[in-house]
Amino acid sequence: MKSDHEEGAPRFYVATPQEIREGKTTDIYFVRTHEIIEKKNLDRHVKAEFIAKGFHDDWPWAVFSGLEEILSLVEGLPLTIRAVPEGTVFRSYEPVMEIEGNYQDFCLLETAILGLMCQSSGVATKAARCKKAAGERPVLSFGARRVHPALTPMVDRSAYIGGCDGISAVKGAELLDVVPTGTMPHALILLFGDTVEAAEAFNEIVDPKVGRVVLIDTFNDEKFEAIRLAEALREKLYAIRLDTPSSRRGNFPRMIEEIRWELDIRGFSHVKIFVSGGMNEDKIRQLNPYVDAYGVGTAISNAPVVDFSMDIIEIEGKPFAKKGKMSGSKQVFRCTRCLQEQVVFLGTGVEDLTCDCGGTLEPILNPVMVDGKTTVALQHPREIRGYVLSQLEHFEL
Ligand SMILES: [Zn+2]
Repeated sequence: MKSDHEEGAPRFYVATPQEIREGKTTDIYFVRTHEIIEKKNLDRHVKAEFIAKGFHDDWPWAVFSGLEEILSLVEGLPLTIRAVPEGTVFRSYEPVMEIEGNYQDFCLLETAILGLMCQSSGVATKAARCKKAAGERPVLSFGARRVHPALTPMVDRSAYIGGCDGISAVKGAELLDVVPTGTMPHALILLFGDTVEAAEAFNEIVDPKVGRVVLIDTFNDEKFEAIRLAEALREKLYAIRLDTPSSRRGNFPRMIEEIRWELDIRGFSHVKIFVSGGMNEDKIRQLNPYVDAYGVGTAISNAPVVDFSMDIIEIEGKPFAKKGKMSGSKQVFRCTRCLQEQVVFLGTGVEDLTCDCGGTLEPILNPVMVDGKTTVALQHPREIRGYVLSQLEHFEL
């Protein structure tokens, strides 16, 4: 396989940011389309919108993510873009973004724009679902090992803005300006040959600011291991972690309840119980009465994508769209109280609309780029995450 490989660097099958901007990751049919339009002098000023007609497993909503990367990708091109804020919880058929410009100027980027949007939104949505299930209890994203490492920062960012309280990989944490979170791998305990010895070494060597969270499922019965650890580390033991609970399907909640009981009656109520391994929103709901925090891997990092599509809805100022698709440029009004939205033809005034709850409606599909210049301040992921969490109160799983 041919590649422009930098001497001495690892040889990975990834496109560079520049190659993506040049259209190297486009589907070939857009290359052919571009050529035909060019030769037939058919370029037109269009508006194209991005919607999802439905979500994986009939989920009722999703989280919009990827906007910052998309704006960066198309920066400098003669395009005007309106979008809902990154982190908006939206429903099917609700436009999240609209590009306006000459078709030829973004034809070769449709594949990349959709890829950025679909995957990031999928991860953010799954993270939000897990966080919704966990409520106040922390959800940590541990899925770096399940994706191509080149994508880890994107996955971590999306998981974090979707609502995860922490992420595990170093590079993602750097970009997010958060402290990466993690406990200890089975390998550490195996090399010591004993859980308590490994925990004591961890306690001796690792920065005291890092919570002492010890894996208890390497060798012996989890209950007796938890008690032995608590008695050895006492107040220094922050939490115990149970990993790979899928091998104990059925009686797992019961086992955790039992461990909680045994710790409590010995005066170790401060020791929290963390669970990881095969976690998802359904398991979190089941375990939430007994568990204090969750490590979620594959479910978030390899979340089903949101199937956005891009469709032309206006050509040279006139509403025009394929069958099965409502033409015309639209606005999304959202009620600030109940978060129900109304999708209307652009130009419909807010004075013509009301919400059943009596709340105030506001337009949320607003300009974010004009003639290739980003016109909104980019938000810190922490703020986007806060926006997601504030909306989740109004949405059910
Ligand atoms: Zn309302």
